[in-house]
Amino acid sequence: MSSRLPLRRTVARSAALGVLLAATALAAPSEAHAGPEQIAATSVDTDVEAQPKTVAKPITLEELPPAWVLPVSGYHLTGTFGASSSLWSSTHTGLDFAAPTGTPIRSVAAGVVTESGWDGAYGNKTVVELPDGTQLWYCHQNTLTVGVGEQLAAGELLGYVGATGNVTGPHLHLEVRPTPDVPVDPYTALTEHGLAP
Ligand SMILES: [Zn+2]
Repeated sequence: MSSRLPLRRTVARSAALGVLLAATALAAPSEAHAGPEQIAATSVDTDVEAQPKTVAKPITLEELPPAWVLPVSGYHLTGTFGASSSLWSSTHTGLDFAAPTGTPIRSVAAGVVTESGWDGAYGNKTVVELPDGTQLWYCHQNTLTVGVGEQLAAGELLGYVGATGNVTGPHLHLEVRPTPDVPVDPYTALTEHGLAP
């Protein structure tokens, strides 16, 4: 008898404690919930202050920068793809942009530099490989400014126009090679990317 009562009381206390714990457990999430709300409210205030600097007008498709850009400015085309000349052992495998020595050459598209150096008739040559494996060759450069392994954005400087290799005057000889051994017409490739060389 005397041992039952304390047991009941213990059970009762345990039950009460259980309720208390449950109540605490119920209270805890709402307290935890209140915390982040206050933090969020503070963050919103900060954002509101920063808003005038960060708000941008909606961008339409026409305003997005093109994925490809022309490699030089102030040029004229002097040699087209497939043309014949005593300068070349086969037909012309690129597109020639005649421009004064020292004219900056910019990467047509984003890619990684896989070659940079002397290549006989091509003179000083830089090869940039695009993510899809297409190679872009920039030949006859006066000065090379990028090294193998460098990641270039479209429009980034990679060298300067020159007259190195087999040439009659300063120009950029550009080649587009979807597979390393098969050059395609750069003029067509550029126009397919929305450019008018
Ligand atoms: Zn050429």
